[in-house]
Parts: sequence; C-alpha cells; structure tokens
Amino acid sequence: MPFAQTNLPPLPLNGGCQCGQVRYAIHAMPILFYLCHCSACQTQTSSAFGESLRCDPATVTVSGMMRTTRRIAESGTVRLGDFCPDCGVRIQHRSEGDPGRLNIKAGTLDDASWLMPAGHVWTRSKQAFVTIPDDELRYLEGPDDGAAAMTARWRAMLGLDP
Ligand SMILES: [Zn+2]
Ligand SMILES: [Zn+2]
Repeated sequence: MPFAQTNLPPLPLNGGCQCGQVRYAIHAMPILFYLCHCSACQTQTSSAFGESLRCDPATVTVSGMMRTTRRIAESGTVRLGDFCPDCGVRIQHRSEGDPGRLNIKAGTLDDASWLMPAGHVWTRSKQAFVTIPDDELRYLEGPDDGAAAMTARWRAMLGLDP
C-alpha cells in the first residue's frame, strides 16, 4: 500500500468533553477523517489545525447539554459549533441547512490513537512547522471534488475497498 493504513476500533467510538458533562457514542464507521488548516480552525482550536471526524448524524448519540455558536463562513454558510457550557470543550461542528453532515472534533475521542488523516484542507494557511508527508492528499483550499478523493482514501486506509 502506498499510504498509511489504520484499523477502526470496535464500535461504538466513545468520547466527550473534559469535565464529563457531555458524552457521545458513534455507532457506525465514520465517513471520513481529515485535518483543516484554515485560520478559523486555528482560532477555534487555539492550535495549529482542526480535526474533523465526519459522521452520519443518525449514527451518533449524545448525552448531556451542549450550547451552540454560530459563525458565518466566507462562503456564506452558517457554521454551527456545539460545545460543553461547563468546560468549554468543542464537541462537534455542523452547517445550517445541511442536516446530513456532522463533524466530531476528534480530539475528544476517548481513544484517538488509531486516527490517521485521509487528507488536509486549507493548506494555504498551514502553520510552517506542520509537515505533511508527500503521499498524503492536500488541498490549498476546500476540496474541489466534495471530498470524494479523501473519502475514497479513508475507506482504503481502513481496508474497506480494494
Ligand atoms: Zn464539559
Ligand atoms: Zn477549518
């Protein structure tokens, strides 16, 4: 295989915030895992990049109460961020008008050791000290194919497609 492989742990994938008020469980294989190097993700995470584990919302259950922030992206899309009001940890991102898509902030997984990104978006604003291996998919801005190539790579990394 020309690129990294990983193994999906047994389902469900459990996670939550730092104080334990919010807990979630992902009951089906996530659709995609990628890193976003855009300046909005850098600000939101107060770090170098955002981690997005894209899931079908119908496969995710959440317990506890979350609050939601709204931000209008450059594209005009309203981005929603759900976080624990007690400890402030961001749990997930959504877009208004796109109920079929949910991005779990993957650093909140109880076990994130198995994660390998299928690609990198918004590398135009990547921190200089972050090095992306040559064989990883990357996009200067958002993926121009609706993330089809990254999704295919993710499935191949998990050994689901030949
Ligand atoms: Zn909390
Ligand atoms: Zn971003």
